[in-house]
Amino acid sequence: MGRVVVIVGVPGVGSTTVTSKAIEKLKEEGVDYKVVNFGTVMFEIAKEEGLVEHRDQLRKLPPEEQKRIQKLAGKKIAEMGKTENIVVDTHSTIKTPKGYLAGLPIWVLEELKPDIIVLVEADYSEILMRRLKDKTRERDFESTEDIAEHIFMNRCAAMTYGVLTGATIKIIKNRDHLLDKAVDELVEVLR
Ligand code: AMP
Ligand code: MG
Repeated sequence: MGRVVVIVGVPGVGSTTVTSKAIEKLKEEGVDYKVVNFGTVMFEIAKEEGLVEHRDQLRKLPPEEQKRIQKLAGKKIAEMGKTENIVVDTHSTIKTPKGYLAGLPIWVLEELKPDIIVLVEADYSEILMRRLKDKTRERDFESTEDIAEHIFMNRCAAMTYGVLTGATIKIIKNRDHLLDKAVDELVEVLR
């Protein structure tokens, strides 16, 4: 039975960067985790079915479709977690045109059984700037108030995941120029 750690954060907060750097450091210490990107697993399924061409189209699909693909991806990832330690790079909530969609609804939690949920956060203005600078993605433009609301909803959802599963909820700040600090904190959690 491997350890399952879920890492979440609003788009652009840098959760993928913090995760990959922490995993690299841990590897040097002989601690092995496999990183699984939930969005990538979903994207591969949706692309195969001809539903999307790039990953930022996933959250615009009808909620029913997103949940169907989410369930398939959750099952696939849970399978990996049975034999090895995994870090799941995903989202606490997904902002869709129809409202916030839980990233880990009960049927996903029951499969995944996370031990720890890590929320990566930063200041609203920092996130806004990071989104503007990232040309590789189709990030939605949001005001600082919108971003603040999303961070709040992510905290609420993450805590309910903790209540439902017993997972601990760790908040890590990924502030500007302090990436190393966030990485070290995540290393500490994963070690
Ligand atoms: P990312 O590269 O992490 O931003 O993920 C790309 C997309 O995958 C997100 O914008 C969501 O549409 C989708 N996604 C990732 N994780 C989940 C999840 N747990 N539940 C539903 N959709 C997800
Ligand atoms: Mg990411």
